Amino acid sequence: MNEIILKPGRDKTARQRHPWIFSGGIMKTPSGISPGEIVRVVDSKKNFVAYGYHNPNSQIAIRLLEWNENALIDDSWWQARIADAVARRKHFIDDSKTNAFRLVFGESDLFPGLVVDRYADFIVMQALTAGIESVKIMLASHLNDLLKPSGIYERSDTESRTLEGLEIMAGQLLGAAPPDRLIVTENGYRLSVDIKSGQKTGLYLDQRDNHKAVASYAAEKELLDCFSYTGAFSVHALGAGAKSVTLVDSSAQSLKTAQQNIQLNRLDETKSTFIDGDAFQILRQFRDSGRSYDMVILDPPKFAPTKSDLKKALSGYKDINLLALKILRPGGILVTFSCSGAVDAQTLQTVLFWAATDAGRNLQIIRTFSQGEDHPRLVTFPESEYLKGFICRVF
Ligand code: SAH
Repeated sequence: MNEIILKPGRDKTARQRHPWIFSGGIMKTPSGISPGEIVRVVDSKKNFVAYGYHNPNSQIAIRLLEWNENALIDDSWWQARIADAVARRKHFIDDSKTNAFRLVFGESDLFPGLVVDRYADFIVMQALTAGIESVKIMLASHLNDLLKPSGIYERSDTESRTLEGLEIMAGQLLGAAPPDRLIVTENGYRLSVDIKSGQKTGLYLDQRDNHKAVASYAAEKELLDCFSYTGAFSVHALGAGAKSVTLVDSSAQSLKTAQQNIQLNRLDETKSTFIDGDAFQILRQFRDSGRSYDMVILDPPKFAPTKSDLKKALSGYKDINLLALKILRPGGILVTFSCSGAVDAQTLQTVLFWAATDAGRNLQIIRTFSQGEDHPRLVTFPESEYLKGFICRVF
């Protein structure tokens, strides 16, 4: 096995089990290492640190996998790691209520570069790094043996693959092809998912608990669901007795699915309005025309994919939150999220401070949200915390 020597001091975070080693932290890389190859990482004095996989094409040159020097990273090691991740989710699996969830969440499950989601009888895999790319067929076969799904579909079509020197790809890996409309359950509601071309791997699974929590405030409310995607918040809200829901999204296809989801759950379709457009513009129109709501949900896409986008992103978050505060009735509920890794909860709270001050209104945070427990946050890998949100009352 090839050995990679770290620069003095660069073993510290690795020993603390942060799984990334940047190319700048490496003293010497032997020539001829192929992308994704398993390597032995040692400190500048040649003491063992961990095993990981190496990709000379990536800025994150090594992703660490195993800190036990005696471990052998072979087929059965990978098999056990998959089984462990699945076993950690066993306690909250109740198919009659929820049969769509994340089985493997990358670094947080000590599985850098791998995402595995289950949607009813189908599995979706994402191989985000060269290390996972080189073992993905073997991993799919282990998943197949363990879970016996109807099929395994690959959605390795995220931009981040290009940073690893990999092409963007999607397609069938094993078994049957998924239907265009797969029906799954979430908190007892039925949702239609297109795992071949939906956003992410089909659903925003990380919001499952929040869909439910937000609905508990929705009874009798006129609700505006901005960045609705396929309407999970609105379906839950209608189920909880909302007076009306207005869904805004820039994807017409997502809104069509949202409408189907409302029908699928036999909810009153006449209470729903679908607006295909830019949420910033729609919010401005509502403000200018004096349209008001009892509850506004803001669940935008990542405005700050990296730290360098932070300034622009914060002004985006401020704009939508301020607009929401302007159209909320007294006593109204603002539900606001950020899924940008570069924006932490404190920063999102600062955005709310700016918005409340500009709007000249009182704003109370009454609940705080994160990602669901199938997207755990590894404490030694703070990057794994990305979703944050607040329920607030405005008066
Ligand atoms: N709330 C959803 C997830 C939202 S993801 C859920 O819980 O399932 C973000 C959504 O914002 C996507 O559906 C995307 O199509 C939409 N979007 C992106 N930019 C937008 C914009 N400027 N205006 C309206 N929608 C936008």
